[in-house]
Amino acid sequence: MASTPAASSAAAPYIHCEDLFKIYKSDELEVVALRGLDLKVARGEMMAIVGASGSGKSTLLNILAGLDTPSAGRVNVGARDLLTATADDLVEYRRREVGFVWQQTGRNLIPYLSAEQNVEVPLILEGRSPGQARARARYLLEAVGLLERRRQRPDQLSGGEQQRVAIAVSLANDPPLLLADEPTGELDSVTADEIFRLFRTLNETTGVTIVIVTHDRAIARRVDRVVAMRDGRTSTEIVRHAAFSRGQGELVEEFAVVDRSGRLQLPREHLDALGIGERARVELTGDHVEVRPEQPSEQRPLPWRRS
Ligand code: ADP
Ligand code: MG
Repeated sequence: MASTPAASSAAAPYIHCEDLFKIYKSDELEVVALRGLDLKVARGEMMAIVGASGSGKSTLLNILAGLDTPSAGRVNVGARDLLTATADDLVEYRRREVGFVWQQTGRNLIPYLSAEQNVEVPLILEGRSPGQARARARYLLEAVGLLERRRQRPDQLSGGEQQRVAIAVSLANDPPLLLADEPTGELDSVTADEIFRLFRTLNETTGVTIVIVTHDRAIARRVDRVVAMRDGRTSTEIVRHAAFSRGQGELVEEFAVVDRSGRLQLPREHLDALGIGERARVELTGDHVEVRPEQPSEQRPLPWRRS
């Protein structure tokens, strides 16, 4: 059975991406959506991915969902290698091992079916009897607080209620992993917070691992860890220390992600504030490293600097 998060964090990560690349090619152009992304997620963790539009968040989530294949690098979920998985493996993976919630409420649900029938669909497809499917659908709708509304169609439900149904649908076949791409993007902040709290409750009661892509920086209060993406790579990581949260305020620390080659991304604001361009001085000073802009006196003529 599932081990505790503390025990499993020492073991192999549940999700393991290393030097992951995704290149979209069309006739005229190539877009590098992921450029050497590193990410580890422990089993049972609930974490968020934030980042500007175009930073590669959806690309990463689609790869983790088995909807898209990476170009190079490593991506493992549990025992499965998603880089080398066959098309049949991926079908199986998508059905049994991963639930997905999209931003567009309309994409998550079948419009002419009731909430209850929507949850039953993936159960029937997996071969459950109608009776089993109904019982499971009711159990899940109760878990998301919508048992009373089970006979409503999506257009009779609010946006927040539709996302609750979508979460119930995504959990129908009890997947160990739940992925959500901006699930609250179309909701007001109060409703969004309710949805984040629901994810947290499900995470704590079922042990499902949850990765949420969001624009909402307030998510940090609701998850174990927030990883920021920039230009197709993970750049910083915010960790919340639960032990401190009982006292006055909690300790929230932000770290820069350092990859195996020692690369890290300096925050854009720091680069701009110091006027750091193509090169910087990096020096070990006692117990830390100093990064300083190149001084005018240090600038050597370089071929591309000749004006
Ligand atoms: P985010 O979700 O962080 O906004 P995406 O993963 O959607 O970012 O996109 C990352 C980059 O990849 C963007 O430059 C985007 O235009 C490009 N991209 C995404 N999907 C495709 C695709 N199917 N074909 C070509 N380029 C794509
Ligand atoms: Mg996106």
